[in-house]
Amino acid sequence: MTIAEFGILSTILAAWLGACFGSFSNVLIYRLPRDLSVVGPRSFCPSCEKTVSWYDNIPLLSWLILRGRCRNCSAPFSVRYLLVEIAGAVCVLASIWRFGWTLDGLSASFFLIILLDIAMIDWEHMIIPHTLTVGGMVIGSVLSLFGNPALPSAMLGAAVGAGSILVVSYGYKLVRGVVGMGGGDVMLMAMVGVFLGPWGVPAVLFGGALFGTLYALTVGRGNLGGGAKLPFGTFLAAAAAVVLFFGGDIFTWYLSRF
Ligand SMILES: [Zn+2]
Repeated sequence: MTIAEFGILSTILAAWLGACFGSFSNVLIYRLPRDLSVVGPRSFCPSCEKTVSWYDNIPLLSWLILRGRCRNCSAPFSVRYLLVEIAGAVCVLASIWRFGWTLDGLSASFFLIILLDIAMIDWEHMIIPHTLTVGGMVIGSVLSLFGNPALPSAMLGAAVGAGSILVVSYGYKLVRGVVGMGGGDVMLMAMVGVFLGPWGVPAVLFGGALFGTLYALTVGRGNLGGGAKLPFGTFLAAAAAVVLFFGGDIFTWYLSRF
């Protein structure tokens, strides 16, 4: 589908909705791992502590108009805030583009935004807040009452997702004598199972392990020595996004090899 067929208005609407989700993601990514409230106080400049006015807090536009600086004291804001808003726009645009303005499109949008938040937080803090995974499971379960996968499949997916990490983690502990994965990974895979169903779980585990290994062998080489941990949740989240869009195609291709 081209943008012309999809409609300029539809594209702008989806991107804008995504940028707003991205804007809220910035709040979640900063505050959840620091145990701060996500509803208040309103965003403020970390430098002069002045509350950011609503007209300076418009997704994408405000950052560009103020060129990433505080209106009051001109202290620079990290470009990361803009990038997360853009990432949010891409998440929703891709979902609506692929699945249309349907419940599946809405479900995919929520799933991707939550995965984005989890990927960022786990990368930086090595934790996966239960607020995101449990919240995602609630949203996914409610949507599965009306969309895909159906509720029984979503529940089975949650059990398979959580169970698989528990088994891997237990096996790792037996072999290496240390706990390889935390409760956050268990909850993440349970949420993945809710959105992708039981068949999505092995694909995401494989993809996450593949991405993590590739990272460790290339970019992460050198700074992962001495028992440094890998933010496995980030790689699982990336794999879940790939499986959401291409899981069916990969499965068909794989079967066609035999
Ligand atoms: Zn300031």
